[in-house]
Amino acid sequence: MASLSEIHMKNFKSFKNAKLKIQNGFTAILGPNGSGKSNTIDGICFVLGKTSAKSLRAGKFNQLITYHGGKRETFAEVTLYFNNKDRRMPVDSDKVGISRKVKINGDNNYYLLWDEEKEVKEGVVIKRIKEEQRKKVKKSDILGIIGKISLNADGFNIILQGDLIKIIDTTPNERRKIIDEISGVAEFDEKGEKATKE
Ligand code: ATP
Ligand code: MG
Repeated sequence: MASLSEIHMKNFKSFKNAKLKIQNGFTAILGPNGSGKSNTIDGICFVLGKTSAKSLRAGKFNQLITYHGGKRETFAEVTLYFNNKDRRMPVDSDKVGISRKVKINGDNNYYLLWDEEKEVKEGVVIKRIKEEQRKKVKKSDILGIIGKISLNADGFNIILQGDLIKIIDTTPNERRKIIDEISGVAEFDEKGEKATKE
């Protein structure tokens, strides 16, 4: 199964340059108030394509850029690396990175990162090495790729503070819809409905 393996944050909120490795299984982020737990989750949601800066607890996207000593850095970038050994993401690489960068002028860009085998010549010896490739891509491409592993920043695979109460307070029918969406059944229901109409 595809899984999140690393989170890299550069000039993102309180993180100047952070690289977090995620082990398989259950991960908990612990720390005192203001240490950056929620900022890490904001970083994940940022890459997954959140369209509102407010939902990332910033007035504007460029306010996500680290501010210190009265000065703001020029950009913020967060990269999520996924284990793609099962190739559920349509990218031919065991490790796939998805990156989003915001500049001080508010420009937002998405990048796809993958490993590619390269041949390096050293005299007559040819060595094969894995090299990270990087390409600017459209947001819709990113949403398509993460959709293949049922990830969606506005979906129920990310439960933010307050969401749980909302889920508990919904009617049984609405709760059923949420469970269908999480389990991936909703997608087939939609396809089924479409096919019936045709
Ligand atoms: P709590 O336990 O209270 O929920 P937390 O670990 O979730 O704390 P965060 O909300 O992730 O803490 O971090 C808040 C900190 O991030 C604050 O100190 C805030 O000043 C800092 N911060 C937010 N945006 C920026 C920014 N653009 N530049 C620098 N620091 C920032
Ligand atoms: Mg918090």
